[in-house]
Amino acid sequence: MIGDIHVHSSFSGDSDADMEEEIQKAVAAGLPYLCFTDHIDWDFPAEDVEYNFDVDEYFRTIGQYREEYADRIRILSGVELGMQPHLAGRYKKLIQEHRFDFVIGSQHLAFGKDPYYPETFEGRTDAEVYRRYFEETLESVKAFHDFDSMGHLDYIVRYGRRRGGVYSYRAFADIIDEILKLLVKFNIAIEINTAGIRKQLGFPNPHPDVLRRYRELGGTLVTVGSDSHKSYSLGFAFDTAADILRSCGFTHCVYYEKRKPRFVKL
Ligand SMILES: [Zn+2]
Ligand SMILES: [Zn+2]
Repeated sequence: MIGDIHVHSSFSGDSDADMEEEIQKAVAAGLPYLCFTDHIDWDFPAEDVEYNFDVDEYFRTIGQYREEYADRIRILSGVELGMQPHLAGRYKKLIQEHRFDFVIGSQHLAFGKDPYYPETFEGRTDAEVYRRYFEETLESVKAFHDFDSMGHLDYIVRYGRRRGGVYSYRAFADIIDEILKLLVKFNIAIEINTAGIRKQLGFPNPHPDVLRRYRELGGTLVTVGSDSHKSYSLGFAFDTAADILRSCGFTHCVYYEKRKPRFVKL
């Protein structure tokens, strides 16, 4: 069975999910492993929320649960880094100083703004914002690639006026391919993030065509995550995710322990 390795708790600025409650839900659902990946998104353009946490306290808390639940589930400590090129040096230092099991690199901004808010799209077409998002993702990966899995690669399309309407892998293949080639070159996994399905986008992030293309380009490492910010969505649509991955040519997914991939048969 596939565990969940993209999970937020109250250590994230945008979640109030109780860690222990999530662990208990995961145990009840029979998940073999669970990795918390709370947000560190330094210099995030928001006044009302801070995406940062006390890493020592985080490790202490997770370490206690890891021991307490060791006979029922494997608990891992990860982080989701919100990438911006100028943060590369600080993020490098952070992950050298703290031994996370798993590091997700995610692009959360376009034009320096949070696309969750409609003003990012004001005066621009969906396609313009999508392209810019992929260009900024490419710049971020060029600047910083010491992470294990690329989070929700086409996440921007959740927020456009027409959402997936003007989006296809084909329409952005030139820029997406550049990103995928770098991931393969740096041995970085790609994530299938089922929140796209949960948010009624009609597909996970990224779209299966992107996952298939990563595989075609020689990528073999794929991680599976629900991006839960509440305990009820842990492991959401993982059967569907496994079907999609098999149809894209993958035989295994991976999770990470001390930054090393562990293979799980699909
Ligand atoms: Zn994210
Ligand atoms: Zn997340």
